[in-house]
Amino acid sequence: MRSHYCGQLNETLVDQTVSLCGWVHRRRDHGGVIFLDLRDRDGIAQVVVDPDTAEAFATADRARSEFVLRITGRVRLRPEGTQNPKMPTGLIEVLAKEVEVLNTAATPPFQLDEHGRVGEEVRLKHRYIDLRRPEMIEKLRLRSRISHNVRAFLEGQGFLDIETPVLTRATPEGARDYLVPSRTHPGSFFALPQSPQLFKQLLMVAGFDRYYQIAKCFRDEDLRADRQPEFTQIDLEASFVSEDDIMGISEAMIRQLFQEVLDVELPEFPRMTWADAMHRFGSDKPDLRIPLMLVDVDDLMQQVDFQVFSGPASAADGRVAALKVPGGGGMSRKVIDEYTKFVGIYGAKGLAWIKVNDRAKGIEGLQSPIVKFMENVIEELLDRVGAEDGDIIFFGADKARVVNEALGALRVKLGEDLNLYTQAWAPLWVVDFPMFESDDNGRLSPLHHPFTSPSCSPEELKSNPAVALSRAYDMVLNGTELGGGSIRIHDQAMQSTVFEILGIGAEEAREKFGFLLDALHYGAPPHGGLAFGLDRLVMLMAGARTIREVIAFPKTQSAGCLLTDAPGEVSADQLKDLNIRLRQKAKAETGNE
Ligand code: ASP
Repeated sequence: MRSHYCGQLNETLVDQTVSLCGWVHRRRDHGGVIFLDLRDRDGIAQVVVDPDTAEAFATADRARSEFVLRITGRVRLRPEGTQNPKMPTGLIEVLAKEVEVLNTAATPPFQLDEHGRVGEEVRLKHRYIDLRRPEMIEKLRLRSRISHNVRAFLEGQGFLDIETPVLTRATPEGARDYLVPSRTHPGSFFALPQSPQLFKQLLMVAGFDRYYQIAKCFRDEDLRADRQPEFTQIDLEASFVSEDDIMGISEAMIRQLFQEVLDVELPEFPRMTWADAMHRFGSDKPDLRIPLMLVDVDDLMQQVDFQVFSGPASAADGRVAALKVPGGGGMSRKVIDEYTKFVGIYGAKGLAWIKVNDRAKGIEGLQSPIVKFMENVIEELLDRVGAEDGDIIFFGADKARVVNEALGALRVKLGEDLNLYTQAWAPLWVVDFPMFESDDNGRLSPLHHPFTSPSCSPEELKSNPAVALSRAYDMVLNGTELGGGSIRIHDQAMQSTVFEILGIGAEEAREKFGFLLDALHYGAPPHGGLAFGLDRLVMLMAGARTIREVIAFPKTQSAGCLLTDAPGEVSADQLKDLNIRLRQKAKAETGNE
C-alpha cells in the first residue's frame, strides 16, 4: 500500500509521486488549505491538501486525530520560510492527490504529545496508543537492535540458540514460583522457570558446549523496586571454561554492544571483591561514577564515650563508618534532616554529622552535635577521612548490614542530588561473593543459587560454610547489576554437600532436583555461565527511568496488566477441569462459584 515510510522522505525525492500510510498526528486548517502531519513508525511527514483536489480535500476535511490514512501525492520543497530544520523531513512536504481513509479513530484518551498530563495507568491501559509515541517507538527499536547485536555476537562466538521449557519444575533463584495447574495430572502443578538455569546445565551435560537464549523468566516477588514478574534474560552457558573465560566473553559482548549501538567506548572493567565493595561502598553493586567512599572508623569509635558509636564499633556484627562529602559543609539543617529521614528508610536510627568549618582551629572550627564526645580521636578521624574546610562528614553506626545499606544508599543519593558524577559509564565486576548468607536464626541460604560452585573443597565448605566464597561474578554498570553468573558445581558429591548445608535433605533433593543429580553423574563437564537482565540493559542504554519504559506491555507494581486486566477469573468449568475448588474467602472476593 505504501511506497515509502513517512520518516524516509527527503529532498532527493522532490517531484516524485509517493504513497504513504499512517496516522493523523495533527490536522490544521490554514485558510482553505489543510495540513496533515502523517505519522508512521519511522517519523512524520507534512501533507498539504489543496481545495483544487476536491475529493481529497473533502476526505482530509473529515479526518481527525489518529485516523488511519493512505495518501498519494507529489513531494515538493517547502516554500522558503516554512522549512523546519529540526524535523528530519522538515525541508519537504507532500502535495496530496488522493486521500483515502483506511479507518477512523475514536478520540484517543490522551493526545500523544500530552501523555505527561495523564498518569501512567492511563498510558498502560491504552498501551497501543502510548506505543505510538515516537519516544516509545525509539526505545523498542533500540531494544530490537540490542537483541540483534547480542545474538550476532554470540552466534559469532559459536553459541547455539536453544529454547528451554516454560512449563517445568521449580528452578530456585530466590523468588516465589508462578504455578500452572496440570489438567492431565490432577493435583499437580508446573512452575514457570525463574531462569533456565537447570536446563542450560543439562545442555552442557549433553555436550552442546556453548548455549544462549533470550529467555523469559518468571519470579513472583514483592515488586518494591523496579521489577517485573516476567522479564527477559540474555542467558548463556559454556563448558570447559573458567571464570575468566565467561567474564571475558561477556565483557567483549557488552563492549561491542555499546560501541556498535551507542558509539560508546566503555572504560576498563575493574574487578572488586564483594567484601571490598561492601566495605568501601556499602553495596554489592557500587556506582563508581560517584567519587564518595565509606571509611571505617570502628577502631577510633571504640575509644569514645558515646554509646551510640562505641557500642556498634565494638560489636562483632556492628560497624561505624564515615562518609565525607567534599564541599558539603553548606548543607542547611533542613537538607540534613531530609537525609536523616532518607537513611531511616534503611533502618538507620539517625544520621550524625560534623561540618568542617575551619580545620586549623581544631575542635573550635568544627560544627556538630556529636563532636564533644570524640575530642580524644577527632584529629585522627579528620586525618583518616582527609577532611578539609567546607566538608561535611556523615556517620552510620549500627549493625553492619544497616550501616552498609543506609550509607550505601545515601552515597548514591548524594551523587545524584549534588551531581557528583565523574564519568558517564562506570562498569565493573564484583567477584568472590560469599557462598551463603544467614538469616537472623543462623539459617543459611545461597547468595546466588544452590548450583554455584564454591572456591573450596567439600570438606572445607562443610567445616566452615559461613566464610566460604563462591566462584560467582556480577557485572555492574552505573550502580545497576547488569548480569551475574558463576562456575557451577559439576560434581555430584559437591552438589549434595551444598544441599545438605542448605538443610535440603537427601529425599527432598532427590524429589526436587533428582534429574540434575542424575545428570551430574553421567559425565558432566566443568561448566559455567551468566545471565544479563535484558530489560535493565536496554533501560540503561536508552537512558530510561524504569524498565517499564522499555517493555512493550509491562505489568504494574501489583503484578497486573491494566490493558488485558490479567490475571482474571476463570469459569467454573475450567476450574473443574483442573480439579481446583476455590476456598470460601477467595470465592467471596472474586465472585467465583
Ligand atoms: N540463573 C542465574 C540467574 O538468573 C544466572 C546464572 O547463574 O547464569 O540469576
